[in-house]
Amino acid sequence: KPPERGGENGTRILVFVRVRPLGKKEKDAGSRCCVRIVDRRDVYLTEFASEKDYLRLKRLRGRHFTFDASFPDSASQHDVYSITTSELVEAVLQGRNGSVFCYGATGAGKTYTMLGKVQSPGVMVLAIKDLFSKIRMRSCDGNHAVHLSYLEVYNETVRDLLSPGRPLVLREDKQGIVAAGLTQYRAYSTDEVMALLQQGNQNRTTEPTRANETSSRSHAILQVVVEYRVRDAAMNIINKMGKLSLIDLAGSERALATDQRTVRSLEGANINRSLLALSSCINALVEGKKHIPYRNSKLTQLLKDSLGGMCNTVMIANISPSNLSFGETQNTLHWADRAK
Ligand code: ADP
Ligand code: MG
Repeated sequence: KPPERGGENGTRILVFVRVRPLGKKEKDAGSRCCVRIVDRRDVYLTEFASEKDYLRLKRLRGRHFTFDASFPDSASQHDVYSITTSELVEAVLQGRNGSVFCYGATGAGKTYTMLGKVQSPGVMVLAIKDLFSKIRMRSCDGNHAVHLSYLEVYNETVRDLLSPGRPLVLREDKQGIVAAGLTQYRAYSTDEVMALLQQGNQNRTTEPTRANETSSRSHAILQVVVEYRVRDAAMNIINKMGKLSLIDLAGSERALATDQRTVRSLEGANINRSLLALSSCINALVEGKKHIPYRNSKLTQLLKDSLGGMCNTVMIANISPSNLSFGETQNTLHWADRAK
């Protein structure tokens, strides 16, 4: 039986999985690979790999999952970008909003997928590069303006990653919910962007005990806003705008909650409110509910105009292949499965 798809009006969220390569630490600890990807869609949690095993695993709960696409550890940053996000960049140029999330445990590859390295830039950088090249193909009259904002939600506090300082206040205005005073960086080319984003990433909150590591509870949101003008049938000029939000979520390791009672007890334990609220919104959207609880967290308020409705939404679940992370990986895959 295929997984439940949500009602007629349910938002369709594209859900992808990316497995990262085994790390040195994992190898040194003698860990084995327990994730297999078959036919570019199916993910099996197993240390064996024969055909017969796959058939058996399909009948076991929690051992076999299928997604819109699943990327093995050999997938390049470009593969991931073009299959998950390039369509959303095209949509933004037609005035539509969209969002791409990386979800997964700490160390599963979210920041690598979103930001990447200088030699292997991730989705954020490739999206901006692609955006500029698409704009260049469309017009040479400077009709499009691109602005970048990069912000963090940590412990329900919003901060500007491009201009660190006091927390930002969220306000509701005609445009929707905005962070008052947020830097809107006017970007003219791709070259400046990688350095800008890396600098911004350095500004993410670190835990006092691990001063050089980004806190696993920090969400980073890059918002790319494209403004342009078109003429309608009567030749009037109309201003249009599209927005793409790219989100490197907090680590999911402590955020699992499947029913309301656990949601409350986890909140009491100061578990990541924004991550829980995002889960609730996504579930409500997929099930086609009328009321979407955007107001429950800073993250979901900020993304209200980019999540659900006419917006394109993409989820990339990042996982480690190591048998030492089996439990986390299974949790992540369960969560991703519910977003379909
Ligand atoms: P997270 O942001 O989810 O905590 P990271 O993106 O920091 O995890 O990844 C953890 C480590 O694994 C980093 O050293 C990163 O460079 C490496 N890594 C993650 N994904 C890949 C990949 N697809 N290919 C190569 N290295 C990767
Ligand atoms: Mg990270």
